[in-house]
Amino acid sequence: MLPIEDVLKLSHKVMQSGHWYLNLNKNRLFWSDEVFRIHGYEPGDIQLDLTTAINFYHPEDRERVSNIINKTLKTYQPLNFVAHILRKDGTSRVVHSQGEIKYGEEGHPTHLFGVIRDITEEWAQQQHHRRLASSLENTDEAIVMTNPSGFITWANSAFTRITGFPEADFLGRKPGDFLQGPETDPATIAYMRSMLSRRESFTTEVLNHHRDGHTYWVRISCQPDFDENDQLLGFSTIQSDITNEKELRLNLQEKINSGKILQERLRYIASHDELSEMPNRRYFMTQAEIEIGRCRRHDHDLCLLLADLDHFKTINDTHGHAAGDSVIKAFATLCENTLRHHDLAARIGGEEFAILLPETDLEGGQVLAERLRQALANTPAMINGEPIFVTASIGVTMAAHNDADVGTMLARADKALYQAKTGGRNQVISWMVE
Ligand code: GH3
Ligand code: MG
Ligand code: MG
Repeated sequence: MLPIEDVLKLSHKVMQSGHWYLNLNKNRLFWSDEVFRIHGYEPGDIQLDLTTAINFYHPEDRERVSNIINKTLKTYQPLNFVAHILRKDGTSRVVHSQGEIKYGEEGHPTHLFGVIRDITEEWAQQQHHRRLASSLENTDEAIVMTNPSGFITWANSAFTRITGFPEADFLGRKPGDFLQGPETDPATIAYMRSMLSRRESFTTEVLNHHRDGHTYWVRISCQPDFDENDQLLGFSTIQSDITNEKELRLNLQEKINSGKILQERLRYIASHDELSEMPNRRYFMTQAEIEIGRCRRHDHDLCLLLADLDHFKTINDTHGHAAGDSVIKAFATLCENTLRHHDLAARIGGEEFAILLPETDLEGGQVLAERLRQALANTPAMINGEPIFVTASIGVTMAAHNDADVGTMLARADKALYQAKTGGRNQVISWMVE
């Protein structure tokens, strides 16, 4: 067995600790070897007394240490403090000193006996942890820690501020049991549960319920914490209140949407006629050019009808302008019901309509024009309960390979229309391509 003296020395060395004692009668101070080493000296390097020892303490700590020691010498209470010392080489260490009075056989105090330990590294760790704890406690984000089963073991004060729940009301409970409520999206809850059960990190946005009932949005970042053996310690969650951000985003989206709606509306107004709601002349001309190009490329037929209501002036004169308007609308509805979805009918003048029929030859165009003419002639527009019969004259033509543009086609259709008018109206006339 090792002698007790050696065991003590060895354990002090391992623990980076040493012992000292002050002879109260002679004011003589004894340091063990390790105490010398803690101070950066070889054992026995310097002569010691209490003042020398106190002067090793950092100037900022010196007065406090001196007061503590003097108090012990006066009151015989144990001493226990942490302070910085400056070593021989000028470097600083942190030491933990503990001591107590020893009494002689007659019961008089004879020595102040102490132990000093170099705790520089663990003190730095402690300070680091203290700073971490302080910043976690004082951040604006709510921070919650749970055990592996999800029950809250700790939360900072921001958690109380955001949720309204004081510590006594949330410790030992599951956050989801009192924060999520009827207005929370069930899919988000299911997502969070599945991530927790899989022990995976996740970030999501969720609508929570405050203790007083109002709802607020939080962005949640949750992660599982593991120890060095990969055992789950629990989950840490950071929650940021994003209610304002969410509202801003929502408003912005609404503005974007209404801007889009406005844009669409403007585009519609620019391309459509207000009364009949049919495409207008400008839109028709643009679309017709595109259609002519397409038919040329694919060698398809393209037919054009030009319809003009007969004696429309008389309708206006007899029944009034509003009645005339209704007849125009009725004709637009008739076109919509009679034509195929890829045909394009437009109001290109007062009571003049152009109808483009892609992939349709002259015969097919004539059939459609005739169907339209008959439907119009047989279906009276009801104005103030009174039926008004209207007819239309229709000119039909086809796209020719040498047509310069839609204007050329329209001119040909107009010739046919003119013939229909002069031929007695309420009829369909075709103009063959020369
Ligand atoms: P026809 O074509 O058979 O030769 O005779 P018409 O009486 O129809 O002659 P025209 O095409 O010259 O006259 C068209 C009339 O349509 C003139 C105008 O007052 C009327 N008109 C044009 N636009 C509108 C409109 O938006 N509403 C109404 N109610 N009438 C309109
Ligand atoms: Mg007319
Ligand atoms: Mg006309």
